Amino acid sequence: HDPRIHVFSVASGHLYERLLKIMMLSVVRHAGAPVKFWLLQNTLSPAFKALLPGFAAAHGFEVGLVTFRWPTWLRAQTDAQRTIWAYKILFLDVLFPLTLRRVIFVDSDQVVRADLAELMALPLDGAPYGYVPFCESRRDVDGFRFWKGGYWAGILAGRPYHISALYVVDLDVFRSTRAGDTLRAVYQSLSADPASLSNLDQDLPNYAAVTPGGGAPGGHPLVRIFSLPQEWLWCDSWCDQASKPAAKTIDLCNNPLTKVPKLVAAKTIIPEWEEYDRMAAATTAEVYARLAQAVASGGGGLGG
Ligand code: UDP
Ligand code: CA
Repeated sequence: HDPRIHVFSVASGHLYERLLKIMMLSVVRHAGAPVKFWLLQNTLSPAFKALLPGFAAAHGFEVGLVTFRWPTWLRAQTDAQRTIWAYKILFLDVLFPLTLRRVIFVDSDQVVRADLAELMALPLDGAPYGYVPFCESRRDVDGFRFWKGGYWAGILAGRPYHISALYVVDLDVFRSTRAGDTLRAVYQSLSADPASLSNLDQDLPNYAAVTPGGGAPGGHPLVRIFSLPQEWLWCDSWCDQASKPAAKTIDLCNNPLTKVPKLVAAKTIIPEWEEYDRMAAATTAEVYARLAQAVASGGGGLGG
């Protein structure tokens, strides 16, 4: 039995790497068990990769890099942001060692306020993964809830539209039901239309969760989603203030009304954010200083 909490995340660019450090510190601070982060290697900068071992050691967690080369037969995305969203969801069956049985994806712009060990143990009712339904409590963004009308309202037929900032994957079920193959096939077909999958990592699992997968009509969906309790994902854009104290994580979702930049939102919405940012900056400076010293003294701390 592996007692650890396993967290998967992705980041590209300086801003998201800064946010990722904060996310990791917040997970570790509340964790009731050792934590291992699995980060997608493809998009991380060389400087961040050099920092990671020292940063992880300083804060007492493990880190593993995972990578997968985009298959030649799978339609590629031309937009870098959409490519990274694709990596959140399309290769969950092949990214991790087979011994890994469960992993929690957490967006790098998220701050965790609860023990993720809870999600490592939560039963998912036989589904391959669990997502949190979008908050419906904040009223002044009612007009932006695109899933409440048109196409999505039609195919959801009253079922929830889930947010993709955090999800728990039961890798045993995901692999044995070939959910990865199904998601890639659905992706390949839907992405033929460049206008579809505009929120790729979110539209894809939501679509697969409400589209019947062969057998009797109205029977099993292609890839079922278990709905996680609402408090696992709070974001200011969609949730009301009354529900904020119970939040177990806070994501810096894009706000369709104000379009506030992430750093501004972080400082105003998450009181503990600046302390984490200072801690991360301090450790970063220490680790880089040590690496520079090792290089200067011929120790080859940056790989020779
Ligand atoms: N991401 C990234 N670089 C980007 C855009 C996104 O690394 O340029 C990653 C990052 O982990 C981020 C996740 O993809 O947390 C989802 O994107 P984002 O948080 O920007 O979406 P939002 O929550 O604003 O809808
Ligand atoms: Ca986010």
